[in-house]
Amino acid sequence: MELSGKIAIVPGASRGIGRAIAVELAAAGCRVVINYRNGANEAETLATQLPGSLAVQADVSTTDGCEYLFKAAEALGPVDILVNKAGITDDTLMLRMTDDQWDRVLNVNASGPFRMTRAVLPGMVSRRAGTIINIVSVSGIRGNAGQVNYGASKAAVISMTQSLAKEIARRNIRVNAVAPGFISTDMTARLPDEVIQGATAAIPMRRVGKPEEVAPLVRFLCGPGASYITGQVFAVDGGLTA
Ligand code: NAP
Repeated sequence: MELSGKIAIVPGASRGIGRAIAVELAAAGCRVVINYRNGANEAETLATQLPGSLAVQADVSTTDGCEYLFKAAEALGPVDILVNKAGITDDTLMLRMTDDQWDRVLNVNASGPFRMTRAVLPGMVSRRAGTIINIVSVSGIRGNAGQVNYGASKAAVISMTQSLAKEIARRNIRVNAVAPGFISTDMTARLPDEVIQGATAAIPMRRVGKPEEVAPLVRFLCGPGASYITGQVFAVDGGLTA
């Protein structure tokens, strides 16, 4: 297996896309640190199914939470892979958006990846090895009405991906981003039917995606086949941004 024995932290792996990524990385041989905030049952159950994995509760929107998660992972051994996946939405039109809606979404979606990356980076730099994948969104590439906060958070992480890739490429650390389009998870299940139908009609493949259609790209980007790929953003969106 191409990632045999590697330790991977996946913030936000109790459900949805993160869960699928944890399953895929474990199938590639990783020991996965399955992070969650509220979903203890889901995360603990998943941990029993993936050999060598560990479920860790931590809120990645805080510095303390990120440090705690990193230390729990490091107790297993050197951290080779970080997949920044924890994310939330709190959609509304700009004219109605409160400071709290803006701050909460930016804290989880943008400050979380910044703080987690800062925690894992010193070890990766000293070992001259490591891979970081940021799960962003097509909303961060081309915007989406009602998602000023969410789109801005994902655009920030796209820029972080590109800048960091340039900073640390010489240390043999690769940083890439994966931008899902419309993927069927709890995050999208909350949307009204007419919004889902409208979104589907705009997708060239005329269907929403599944978490299992995002995870294999993350596995590839973490592996030896992607050894010369860094600073890139890959859309997985049924052709939406083509
Ligand atoms: P989801 O099903 O709602 O899952 C969200 C995950 O993030 C859960 O595991 C949740 O943990 C975790 N989480 C949220 N806040 C956290 C925090 N402060 N600390 C730690 N964990 C936290 O979402 P999803 O659809 O899989 O989305 C996953 C990622 O893909 C997000 O970054 C999202 O922006 C991105 N994305 C999704 C879509 C889509 O269509 N679904 C499209 C583009 C991008 P608990 O349940 O334990 O709280």
